[in-house]
Amino acid sequence: MNDNDLSVFSPNQNGGEEAAEADRGEILRCHNYACSFVTYNDIDKCPYCGRRMLRADQFRTLGYILIGLGVVLSGMGAALIYFLGDKLPNDPARSLVAMAIFYGLFFVGLLPLAAGIYQVYSGQKHSKLQKMMMLAFSAVLVAAVLIRIFF
Ligand SMILES: [Zn+2]
Repeated sequence: MNDNDLSVFSPNQNGGEEAAEADRGEILRCHNYACSFVTYNDIDKCPYCGRRMLRADQFRTLGYILIGLGVVLSGMGAALIYFLGDKLPNDPARSLVAMAIFYGLFFVGLLPLAAGIYQVYSGQKHSKLQKMMMLAFSAVLVAAVLIRIFF
């Protein structure tokens, strides 16, 4: 064999390896941020926690939704700070609460934005960011209820 033969055969060999990779199936990851189950088997539900198993392209699609959500939340927070920041009532306590909500919205929105960018980039979830996002959303919900009660 000379160099010419090798250059002809090597692309075929690469093609063979890619085909073998495809036969093994696509990697599926559990959607649950607290669960790290991963498999090559084509199953719908995680055997450990029962959540959906997702392919990389599905994580990417959800990533775009997270990015959209993050842009909307952070954008709303930024717009409120920008447009209402200097038009708040003279009551310092209420102004403080209002500004806390505006900044809260802005920073809470950064979490799905970051998680979404990671998902689109990597095709898998970022467990820590997802967990922080869930905690932040829960905190927002609790804050909303408390504000309804006290204001
Ligand atoms: Zn699971």
